[in-house]
Amino acid sequence: LVSRKWRVRPTVLDLGEGVRIGEGNLTLAAGPCSIENEAQMELMMQHLLDNDVRIMRGGVFKPRSSPYAFRGLGMDGLKLFHQMARARGIKIITEVMQVSQVEEMHDYVDVFQVGARNTQNFNLLDALGGVDKPVMIKRGISGTLEELLSSAEYVFSGGNEKLILCERGIRTFETASRNTLDLNAVPILKEKTHLPVIVDPSHGIGIREYVPTMALAGLMAGADGIIYEAHEKPEEAASDGAQTLNFEESARLIRNLRKVYALR
Ligand code: PEP
Ligand code: MN
Repeated sequence: LVSRKWRVRPTVLDLGEGVRIGEGNLTLAAGPCSIENEAQMELMMQHLLDNDVRIMRGGVFKPRSSPYAFRGLGMDGLKLFHQMARARGIKIITEVMQVSQVEEMHDYVDVFQVGARNTQNFNLLDALGGVDKPVMIKRGISGTLEELLSSAEYVFSGGNEKLILCERGIRTFETASRNTLDLNAVPILKEKTHLPVIVDPSHGIGIREYVPTMALAGLMAGADGIIYEAHEKPEEAASDGAQTLNFEESARLIRNLRKVYALR
């Protein structure tokens, strides 16, 4: 069902208020790895509005390698995030980690994110197949593109056609970067599927200085959009600060992404 053989026309998702994801629309989504507090959200939302970006990413349930790391504000954080975003016409994308969260999060998100560690959590994918909200599935840490497409097929065949795929880097033998952003994925996925394809250069390379370069490369490779981490003070971020852009870097990147997109 997710194949171009089944549907030739590219899928375009409408989040409302003029925000669309897919062919013909440049999707930009930015925000902190973790939602931390009201003041942080306020500053981030103002930064997004100042730069005409309508989607904010931010985690409230965080999959952390260490159980002692900050694991997110949970539902209370999401409710505040939602309330503040609604008031400003901003759409929310945030990670859902388990089946039991799907229902409680449902009314407070615009796009559910399935993280790289959950790409093959088939129970979660089944549950998301039953909701009427878009789902962005990230590629598994060591997942093939075929496996990513199969994960999307779970959701699609369950009845939810509102899907987005995200290349976020894979684990290879290389240790100079956090992950290896596989830009090969973009043209391959764009040919194989009618679903929108987004690139996450933040987790893809993991090093702040190189994030803009890889974001621009992702767009040139044909991605429908870029999702990246930004924070007013990256060095103080509760998670992933080393790969997070400050507002100045973020604003410059947004301008450059728009220029590159216009050249395509
Ligand atoms: C994130 O988006 O902050 C995240 C945890 O991403 P991933 O699942 O790709 O590691
Ligand atoms: Mn992160």
